[in-house]
Amino acid sequence: MDLYEYQAKDLFAKHGVPTQSGIVVTDADAAVAAAEQIGGLVVVKAQVKTGGRGKAGGVKLAQNASEAGEKASAILGLDIKGHIVHKVLVTGAADIAQEYYVSYLLDRANRTFLAMASVEGGMDIEEVAATKPEALAKVLIDPLVGVDAAMAAQIADAAGFPAEVRDEVIEVLQRLWEVFVKEDATLVEVNPLVQTPEGRIMALDGKVTLDENAEFRHADHAALVDLAAENGLELKAKEKGLNYVKLDGEVGIIGNGAGLVMSTLDVVAYAGEAHGGVRPANFLDIGGGASAQVMADGLEIVLSDPGVKSVFVNVFGGITACDAVANGIVQAIGLLEQGGDKVTKPIVCRLDGNNAAAGRAILAEANLAVINVVDTMDDAADRVAALAAGA
Ligand code: GDP
Ligand code: MN
Repeated sequence: MDLYEYQAKDLFAKHGVPTQSGIVVTDADAAVAAAEQIGGLVVVKAQVKTGGRGKAGGVKLAQNASEAGEKASAILGLDIKGHIVHKVLVTGAADIAQEYYVSYLLDRANRTFLAMASVEGGMDIEEVAATKPEALAKVLIDPLVGVDAAMAAQIADAAGFPAEVRDEVIEVLQRLWEVFVKEDATLVEVNPLVQTPEGRIMALDGKVTLDENAEFRHADHAALVDLAAENGLELKAKEKGLNYVKLDGEVGIIGNGAGLVMSTLDVVAYAGEAHGGVRPANFLDIGGGASAQVMADGLEIVLSDPGVKSVFVNVFGGITACDAVANGIVQAIGLLEQGGDKVTKPIVCRLDGNNAAAGRAILAEANLAVINVVDTMDDAADRVAALAAGA
């Protein structure tokens, strides 16, 4: 789960990382009141779960309270990379002498944790990494040791932090590591970590991703979920216990087994190139024991995605054989139509593996207009892509 900046900063404060919390508001009047309460120069910041807010006009300084209201009006409702701004953070403006970058993340390729740090923070760190890779220090962290004072010193020196801030940066790096470990994060990023003219170090921005697999250890993290910002279809799928991820293409995908669904996404994306570039609309693994109810739940979610033009049901029969899945598909369409949802989008079914012939016979016998049975995965991908493209 990605956190908002203000939530990340709350976690920073909890673990002793110097930062400025501020007040979160949803309208201009409240922004005025917040700025009055804070006093002096403030900064109004869009709270959306994406980076580059500054460049997109989502971070603005305000000289006084009424200006803070104007800036909030300008920022609220902005579309930043597809994220509409519903909340802004009003916080005291810091004076900046230097902007640095530090982060910890899970490095899957190296099977460990990675620290990244640069004295060239503030701007796009991807750009620094691409155009000036030597300016971005990367230090692997031994998970059994973590970031102690010696490790923090190694990171600070690899990045070349100047002597006057070195000690404080070493301290902050240890506090940030505490956030990373104690909160079970997979990413903690501070860009910029600033040096004030007085020589103090402070996290001016924060990006934290929490590991959902560790939810059971953190009762307090449930309060960080922002239902309004979650994808509606993903929420609905979660309620039904389905393993669904929304993508932005046109071909709905349902399969049994994560590996099969992943390869289905690939073949559909590939087949789609010949049909105007149609792409998969989602990932949905209905698992091994695909009952009629699970198939109905899956179809309902996939079909209710307005972007979906056609659906690919790709099943490899194993312990749950294809005839059972075929019955599930037929019953699922019945269940949906009973529920008042007329199924009109074409569904391409490919059944293979245990009892495939019996499964195909059941679909043929049901004689449903929306169902197209195709025998191979590649042919089915081509067919479903063609249908999505309106052929
Ligand atoms: P991002 O663009 O989404 O990464 O948002 P940031 O929180 O990093 O803000 C973008 C930029 O706005 C920073 O790099 C700073 O240059 C500037 N900024 C943010 N907060 C302050 C502040 O308190 N004072 C000043 N002077 N500039 C700020
Ligand atoms: Mn930033």
